[in-house]
Amino acid sequence: MSTNKDKLVIFDTTLRDGEQSPGASMTKDEKIRIARMLERMRVDVIEAGFAIASPGDFEAVQAVAEAVKDSRVCSLARAVGPDIIRAGEALKNANASRIHTFIATSPIHMKYKLQMEPEDVLRQAVEAVKTARQFTDDVEFSLEDGSRSEPEFMYRIIEAVINAGAGTINIPDTVGYGEPGEYGAMFKRVIESVPNSDKAIFSTHCHNDLGLAVANSLSAVMNGVRQVECTINGLGERAGNASLEEIVMAVRTRQDLYPVETQIDATHIVPTSRMVSSITGFPVQPNKAIVGANAFAHESGIHQDGVLKHRETYEIMRAQDVGWGHNRLVLGKHSGRAAVRARYEELGIHFEDAGEFQLIFERFKELADKKHEIFDEDLHSLVAGVEAPVEHFQLEDLEVRSKIGTLPQAHIRLLIEGESHRAEAYGSGPVDATFKAIESIADSKAELKLYSVNAVTQGTDSQGTVTVRLERDGRLVNGVGADTDILVASAQAYLDALNLLASGERKKKGV
Ligand SMILES: [Zn+2]
Repeated sequence: MSTNKDKLVIFDTTLRDGEQSPGASMTKDEKIRIARMLERMRVDVIEAGFAIASPGDFEAVQAVAEAVKDSRVCSLARAVGPDIIRAGEALKNANASRIHTFIATSPIHMKYKLQMEPEDVLRQAVEAVKTARQFTDDVEFSLEDGSRSEPEFMYRIIEAVINAGAGTINIPDTVGYGEPGEYGAMFKRVIESVPNSDKAIFSTHCHNDLGLAVANSLSAVMNGVRQVECTINGLGERAGNASLEEIVMAVRTRQDLYPVETQIDATHIVPTSRMVSSITGFPVQPNKAIVGANAFAHESGIHQDGVLKHRETYEIMRAQDVGWGHNRLVLGKHSGRAAVRARYEELGIHFEDAGEFQLIFERFKELADKKHEIFDEDLHSLVAGVEAPVEHFQLEDLEVRSKIGTLPQAHIRLLIEGESHRAEAYGSGPVDATFKAIESIADSKAELKLYSVNAVTQGTDSQGTVTVRLERDGRLVNGVGADTDILVASAQAYLDALNLLASGERKKKGV
């Protein structure tokens, strides 16, 4: 890192705002796995959740705070005492913690949502920051719907919360309405108008409703902002948040323009993107910048020729710098226990007990028999498959017949608490027939909300990762299955979802 540039703080909110996208719910273990990847990537601040939202959220924040050592761990809290105390408790064991407290400051939100006078909002904000400072010396204050707030009021509240001890001031574009020139200019005015603005770091939090989240964030950076709130793959409510990988690589690629640099180790970007995608069941579009499958594929003959002659003619970044192909080929049929375990350690995945690792190692061997080369992505998907807390339903056998002009038929055998059950069903396709056969045994009354198949790696011997989302009584679960046979993967994913529904571990519905 050169010394003449300011540091841009990367604040990742995949586990909080990202998780709020409907259907992107994560279990505590999944959050810990993602947090460890973010830590390896050298993300500065990890927003782990909203501690008061539910006991599950509290436990997840607490678990991430305990698992992560190098990144600061943050919890969101409304600007009210009980929220802040709960956040403080969840973060108690963190190496470095932050409380992020917020209150709405736009006339429309104050009047209709809070039903409070501006002066009372200001008083409450100051009080909240002071309370938060009793738990940590790192407090962030957000002006919810800040970009639609009255400038004079905004300056006064910012000055007051900085005096009360807030070190970071976040002005989000909560509804995704901002435009880069306007949003950047707002920060410039705020920083110039608030007398003690030099005592705080200013931060952006942009939503992508108009596809401008990254542009708005970068414009703010050009106008004095030194923290960007973002998520892996741009995950987030509605159209999502600013994407971490795009922010980081824009700043890095255009060092000639940006007055800042980040400490991110970009080689972890692609593996982390894959992990978030497989955990949430949200595939990454092939043409997505940086992490899409085609992001570095130079199809046209002219481009290929140019790239071969001199890479920089068409490539502005190197694929390996963001983790494509980086250490991907790792293991095979003859790899032993120690090698597999060591590679998992390198990926930030630790096994608490020998039994858990044994199960993974057996799956690894099964996979290695079917597939020559085992990549990091395969290792991740093997782990994703073991997380069902109870194995109420287990797949014993599956046979599917599919022929053009006939209705596909599935024969299935399931093991339920040691007892074998068999069923058969027809369906409009082989997957439909498989699910119908499972349901004729399970009779879950769950509704299928999403079915998605992704190839884990390239090539026709690649594992297919299937995500099945089921809903029952307002509860949403994502089941995951991986196999070189996508029908087997589909059946496993469906059973995984049924097992999650059957278990006590709740995957909370996005709020
Ligand atoms: Zn948000």
